[in-house]
Amino acid sequence: MFRATKIVATIGPASSEYETLKAMIAAGVDVFRLNFSHGTAADHASRADSIRRAASDAGREVAIMADLQGPKIRVGKFENGRIDLVKGARFTLDAAFEGLGNQDQVGLDYKELPRDVNEGDVLLLNDGLIVLVVEAVEGSRIVTRVKVGGDLSNNKGINRQGGGLSAPALTAKDMDDIRTAMQLGVDYIAVSFPKNATDMTMARQLAGIATPVGAARPMMIAKIERAEAIPALEEILKASDGIMVARGDLAVEVGNAAVPALQKRMIKMARAANKLTITATQMMESMIVNAVPTRAEVSDVANAVLDGTDAVMLSAETASGKYPIEVVQAMAAISLEAEKSYEVELDKDFLNQMFTRVDQSVANGALFTAWHLKTRAIAALTDSGSTALWMSRHNIDQPIYALTPNLATRRKLALYRNVQTFNLAQGDNRDEVLAAAEELLLEKGLVLRGELIVLTVGEPMGKPGGTNTIKIVKVGQHLGSLAAAQHAA
Ligand code: PGA
Ligand code: MN
Repeated sequence: MFRATKIVATIGPASSEYETLKAMIAAGVDVFRLNFSHGTAADHASRADSIRRAASDAGREVAIMADLQGPKIRVGKFENGRIDLVKGARFTLDAAFEGLGNQDQVGLDYKELPRDVNEGDVLLLNDGLIVLVVEAVEGSRIVTRVKVGGDLSNNKGINRQGGGLSAPALTAKDMDDIRTAMQLGVDYIAVSFPKNATDMTMARQLAGIATPVGAARPMMIAKIERAEAIPALEEILKASDGIMVARGDLAVEVGNAAVPALQKRMIKMARAANKLTITATQMMESMIVNAVPTRAEVSDVANAVLDGTDAVMLSAETASGKYPIEVVQAMAAISLEAEKSYEVELDKDFLNQMFTRVDQSVANGALFTAWHLKTRAIAALTDSGSTALWMSRHNIDQPIYALTPNLATRRKLALYRNVQTFNLAQGDNRDEVLAAAEELLLEKGLVLRGELIVLTVGEPMGKPGGTNTIKIVKVGQHLGSLAAAQHAA
């Protein structure tokens, strides 16, 4: 069965072993996420190595995404590791305090916080479970009153309701981590807490500089998890290859009730801008400890699929949960089922759309043709993968096969909705390459002799961005005659 929606799985202690990774790939993981908020460069290197080995042994190309920690603002550590904050109590966050915290006060890793907050501000700790109201800012000290109490342990995150913290998106650690990631040959870099396009442009430049000679530059994903990123979405999209709907931090900043509608809007905007989307956080949270998901989680995954997300993501479920393989199986099954009720509105999608690029017009023309002729599949002979990207921005009830000799392209396309890739050498005889494409799809059992498919190709062959031809073929029809002609020659 062809699954259009891709699965991103975070690697952690529960999923670092080669055998587990291999089983996760068999269960349907398309992209592995290395979380740079945890672990050393050596940990990431050994995980990246195991992922590449497991994928190669499974005969699949998967992508690796490095997720930078970003300026997550955190409290320091406590004498006893944790405290119990009681409603109505006074609690001080002190940027100058270097010791271990207690019931009255704790240190801060982000020293600028006192300058960013004012009396009356609401601070949310531990993903919003604890609520503090700022009563006064006295130099380095932020004096607060506990509005909602609870258990607070070492290094928990702090958000300000409504956003507005000035911390830059790229910390010194992130810059180091970008270099580490590029040494590991990652395909994607996810930038945490970007506020604007500049944050993304800077990250892209650093990643470009850190890309080893001859290697492909990474795709840049903006994690939308700050309130300020919402009004800046249009410009952030322009500066990125895709976005992550990072519902964890986003929900804390904008209030969790606002997130479902934002998710729909963000996915819609990204698709219209020809960008990728990942829907993330707590999708299958209960499967950290249970072998089956809740009804609500099933609906959440299915709704993200119907929203048109490229991928759904697993975090703690696969990083530290009890069922890293089963949760991938469950997610794959839910996605497949939800995809049966896609609405294809291709004609409407194209209404009033203007294409200026030849390759983009050809990609969309191929899609339109495939939909109207009810063909079996679309096959794009591609180098950079752009044709497959444009095709995958619309719902269509046919698979898109991207055929390319370019390994880096195959890996990055692992994230694209409704796209599957195969290795196909590109010689300069167009007829031979197209015949090889047909044979490949036949051999894999993806099409049958006599079925119609739509092919796109560039002439002359092998020039990036050169797609200029749509060909509709009845599979297998020319193969015999071509072989005979070759024989005669
Ligand atoms: P994180 O990002 O898991 O790195 O915090 C995702 C989110 O905030 O939802
Ligand atoms: Mn986050």
